[in-house]
Amino acid sequence: MQRLAPLLERFHQYRPGDVHAVAAKVHLEAGFKACGSNAFTGVLWSHDGTALTVSFTGGVRTSLILQDFNLVTKCSCETWQPARNCPHVVVAWATLKRLVSPEALAHIRFAPELVAGMKGGLGSAAAFPPGIPAGEGDVKSAAQGVPSPVSLVPLDRGMESVPEGDRSRFCLVVAPDGEGGLSGCVMRGTERVTGWSPGIPTELSLFLLLDHPYASTPSYFEKFLQVTGGRHPIVFCDPQGTGTVLSYAGDAPRTLGVSFDFREGDVAVSRSTEKGPIPDAAFLHGKLLFDLEAGLVHPVADALGLDRLQQTD
Ligand SMILES: [Zn+2]
Repeated sequence: MQRLAPLLERFHQYRPGDVHAVAAKVHLEAGFKACGSNAFTGVLWSHDGTALTVSFTGGVRTSLILQDFNLVTKCSCETWQPARNCPHVVVAWATLKRLVSPEALAHIRFAPELVAGMKGGLGSAAAFPPGIPAGEGDVKSAAQGVPSPVSLVPLDRGMESVPEGDRSRFCLVVAPDGEGGLSGCVMRGTERVTGWSPGIPTELSLFLLLDHPYASTPSYFEKFLQVTGGRHPIVFCDPQGTGTVLSYAGDAPRTLGVSFDFREGDVAVSRSTEKGPIPDAAFLHGKLLFDLEAGLVHPVADALGLDRLQQTD
């Protein structure tokens, strides 16, 4: 049984008229016109088939990301604005819709190279159900009514362009922000990268494009690991520039408390968890316990107690 990638399945459900909600009217008109010439240069897929980035000439990168049932669209061009989008988003949207529903958007003239290029770039994600007639400009075998052979190659075609060794050079760096808090960003060596930095692996690009601001919360780390598939290290960088690789220990939450130590009439109060006193090389921030010695980040239960303890620091 052939299966569409989740993003394409969503496009299958869209009505052709939904294109009018994709961008501001002026961009719709420019985008429809741009479909007639081929500026397509490539497609990168996320490993789970929920998002893709289309590259156009001039280095423009347009991302379509399925978040739950909604489609998030972004483009690296100067025209792009939230809600208004840009002509590239229209081209990517319309071409995808044409590929999954060949009878749709008949009023748009598509350059055959654009449709063929996009279809080739979709790979097995575009495992079109047999019986759907090929659209204009489709690859030859499909145009003759013969479904293209479908093999279950992974959907992470985009990541094939980033060698494994290079991919590991990207990491999430968490560091003190100089104001008593922590900041987090994705780095390649000493360079801070964005969702559209050249050579960035697709999964990291998606994480950054989805706008997850750093927060010392379990959900931030869980989202990072979920979107990136745990392919990239998390590194804590102290003010001296020393890095410690951390693993997120989501299955080992800690409950905070205090321990009292009575000695010679004095009472020493120290922070502790059910595992004992918090070691010197560990600290609390937000809803997390960073244990640098063990290289672990634990979710912390009992937020009320945590707040009180942080206030007494
Ligand atoms: Zn654009």
